[in-house]
Amino acid sequence: MQYENTLEFARQQDAADPLKSFREKFFIPQHNGKDTVYLTGNSLGLQPQSTREYIQQELDDWAQLGVEGHFQAKNPWLHYHELFPSLLAPIVGALPHEVVAMNQLTVNLHLLMATFYRPTKDRFKILCEAKAFPSDQYALESQARLHGFDPKEAVVEVAPRPGEYCLREEDIIDAINQHGPQLALVLFGGVNYYTGQVLPMQAITDVAHNVGALAGFDLAHAAGNIRLQLHDWDVDFACWCSYKYLNSGPGSVAGAYIHERHCTNTELPRAAGWWGYEKDTRFQMKPLFKAIPTAEGWQLSNAPVLSMAAHRASLDIYAAAGMDALTQKSKTLTGYLFHVLDEINAAQEVKVIEVITPRGAGEHGCQVSLLMLQKGREVFKALTERGVIADWREPNVIRVAPVPLYNSFEDVWRFGEIIREVL
Ligand SMILES: *Cc1c(COP(=O)(O)O)cnc(C)c1O
Repeated sequence: MQYENTLEFARQQDAADPLKSFREKFFIPQHNGKDTVYLTGNSLGLQPQSTREYIQQELDDWAQLGVEGHFQAKNPWLHYHELFPSLLAPIVGALPHEVVAMNQLTVNLHLLMATFYRPTKDRFKILCEAKAFPSDQYALESQARLHGFDPKEAVVEVAPRPGEYCLREEDIIDAINQHGPQLALVLFGGVNYYTGQVLPMQAITDVAHNVGALAGFDLAHAAGNIRLQLHDWDVDFACWCSYKYLNSGPGSVAGAYIHERHCTNTELPRAAGWWGYEKDTRFQMKPLFKAIPTAEGWQLSNAPVLSMAAHRASLDIYAAAGMDALTQKSKTLTGYLFHVLDEINAAQEVKVIEVITPRGAGEHGCQVSLLMLQKGREVFKALTERGVIADWREPNVIRVAPVPLYNSFEDVWRFGEIIREVL
């Protein structure tokens, strides 16, 4: 597409956008009585206007029915979690029985590692990205310790080359091969939270399997952002949160995926709880755990219905929009952001913004990370004062994510215009 950095062009694109009506389904935070330019859907997605209704339904049923709501609520709470697989499966590219909505992200990471990180004396290493999200680092480190290994030896990191920001596929592959016989698990973020780089999940999974290791992914920044094909890629397990791109509210219920070949295996060791127990006989409350032969078999507790109601409000919107249309718009919208930033750079004597997010097809989702070579704080301050909500990472990175559900081309233009004026 021929982009133009003008308000007129941005408005034309918005008028022709087949997803334009979706913006009206969300509350857009206000600044001086006007819509903010909200570019942090990668951190906390906006509230759908329908969320209140979905939660209200459960509050009303609880008020009127008390404990009977487990069976008699409009959406009986006993089965509430069963509403999710058909909504989540198309978002992560899984079969419905491979996915479950439960707990929160870091909790799920631990639960999945309880099953899929089963180190031995010879095969005990976990390969991950350097500077992984802190919670993931702590999870990996503590899992190594739980099994009696020194994390300094057990957790192996792959870093970008000196002077580079993103990981190279060949470096990841080399590292997997290099540690091959000692590798128990390869675990990466599907989309890097700092750079926005999409990792080659299929290639990583293939090579991990070749050396006899398992492959898992943290999809916090991938779920609802990019096209995923977890089942076809043969990924062993994955987990994600629902409050970033998936717009389900702060700390809302998370998700997990377990490949069919594993989730149907009720013999797999796990940290178990009653909600993972075979449904027909669960309430006989007998000793000895019998797992449900789906991803539900990893559930511990009964469903957090209030946060799940918010999750459902958002997933119904995802289902109406469809991942194809969303990723299509995402490419065009992010392409426009790249264009606007290039024009800003071109107008300066010395480059001010280094875009560290890779631009190749399939290498990025909607998040773009800008390394500010000059005037970073000034620019960020001006953005904030003028109603742009972006994200600042020390020492000098601004992360922005124009998300296709509710951001517009005009949002991107306004963002660029403020930077241009400050410079
Ligand atoms: C957002 C995020 C988390 C947050 O974990 P919670 O358990 O939801 O608090 C963890 N890991 C990554 C990669 C993230 O992006």
